[in-house]
Parts: sequence; C-alpha cells; structure tokens
Amino acid sequence: MTTTLATDTAPLTGDALRSRYDEINRRIGEAAARSGRKASQVVLVAVSKTASMEQIRELVQAGHVHFGENRVQQLQQRVAQVEEFQARRRELSGSEPAPVRWHMIGSLQRNKVKKAIECARLIHSVDSMRLAEDIQNAASRREEPVDILIEVNISGEASKHGLHPPAVRHVIEQIDTMVNVRPRGLMCMAPNTQDAAVVRDVFERCRELFQDIRSAGVGGDAFDLLSMGMSNDFEAAIECGSNMVRIGGALFGAPAVQDEPGEG
Ligand SMILES: *Cc1c(COP(=O)(O)O)cnc(C)c1O
Repeated sequence: MTTTLATDTAPLTGDALRSRYDEINRRIGEAAARSGRKASQVVLVAVSKTASMEQIRELVQAGHVHFGENRVQQLQQRVAQVEEFQARRRELSGSEPAPVRWHMIGSLQRNKVKKAIECARLIHSVDSMRLAEDIQNAASRREEPVDILIEVNISGEASKHGLHPPAVRHVIEQIDTMVNVRPRGLMCMAPNTQDAAVVRDVFERCRELFQDIRSAGVGGDAFDLLSMGMSNDFEAAIECGSNMVRIGGALFGAPAVQDEPGEG
C-alpha cells in the first residue's frame, strides 16, 4: 500500500494542520496524475467527526469547502456553529466567504432523515429502498432533489453496511423514478485488512460497477460521483477511479473528540 502517515499523538492545529492539509492535497494531486486526471477532479471531504471546532474553523478559514460527519446530531451542531463563524467573517470582511458544504457519511437512522437532509448536501450512505423512500417523503416540499450515493458492500463483510453489488443497479433504476431523490453515484469502504491487493480489488470492483451503471445510462449525466478512499487507502482509491475521498485522521491528527458508537 502507499505510505501511511506516522500516527499523530495530538490533534493538529495552526501551522501543523495547515501543512498537513497542503500535504494531503499534494498526495491527492499526485494520485490523480497517476490515473491521468487533475487534482481538481478529486473532491476532498474532510471528515471532521473527531475534529474540534477550532480545527474545522481553521480549514474553513483556509478556504476548504467539503466536510463530512457521520452522526446527524453532531452534523446539525456543526452546521450551526460554522454558519455563525461564516456570519462573523462576512461582517468583518464585508464580503461573502467561500461556501461550506456538508456531507452525511455515516449510516442513517430512518427517524433522522429529515434533519440529515436539512443539513447535508450529499448523503453518502443510502443502502436500502426503504431509506430512499423515506428521503423521498421527507423531501416532498423541496424544490431541489436530495443528492444521494448508494453505499455498496463490495467485500461482503457482515459487519459492513451497504447493498450487495447485484442489487445495486435495480435499486438505482427505482430511485431514479423518485422526483425528490437524485442518485449521484456510489460509495464504498475498503475491508478491514492490511493487504493492499485485497483493498485495491474492492476499489476496482466498485469502479467497474459504477462504470457499468453509467454506461447503461441509469441515473443519467448526474450519476458521476464515486466516493471511496479514507486515510489509509485514499491514494489507491484514486488510482482505481475514485473522485471523492473521505479523510479524517490523516488530516486532523489524533482525535480531539471521541466518535460515539452506534448509528446516527
Ligand atoms: C470516519 C470515516 C471516514 C474517515 O476515516 P479516516 O480513517 O479517519 O480517514 C470515512 N468514511 C466514513 C464512512 C467514516 O465513518
């Protein structure tokens, strides 16, 4: 596997966070170049679930746009806090700060769908028709459809969320008929293994599934996002075709807040 960063013993802030951010962006750019693409064709979602608000504000200040959370309650709190921060920046500078976009990356409980779609631009974790239907119903009064990704369990591990690959195309065909839900692509997670070849094989299979669906025209032109790759495997994921990586620990360092177990 590609080099992993030394394990950080503390959360990164200030210049250390800034230089880590630059380093991650450089590595994303290099991996994109190896797969014949530009850095700008891969979106970095900064996974802030274990980051402090101070760390988030520093990245927002640096112009970073995309942030991901895996619990709805924390997502909601952070959206509100970042909005306050943006309002202060607007007042101080008299101009409009770069927007911040939130991603819901964790598995979603049905009773939290409404809050999640109010806060997040993209839901990465739709893994059933029932959840898609809940989103459709919760979004019925919106003008714009809710963008979602289908989470796929490529490796078949029992501990993982996600649809089994053979079911994915049919589910997307059905979701594509819902007026308030727009399927934008696929999301997958690598299996828990140190074996780089196994990880790569999972990413390759997800990319193939993504391409099959695209070339069949399911989901149309909007079906263009492949969310795969985290701290330990994002370069391999990009080399296998990912255009959206979700990176937490390698960016923020050691946890500043604990990630709570359970669904959110
Ligand atoms: C926590 C999390 C990540 C980021 O993991 P790191 O290993 O810290 O980069 C990415 N995706 C999901 C779904 C997560 O829950």
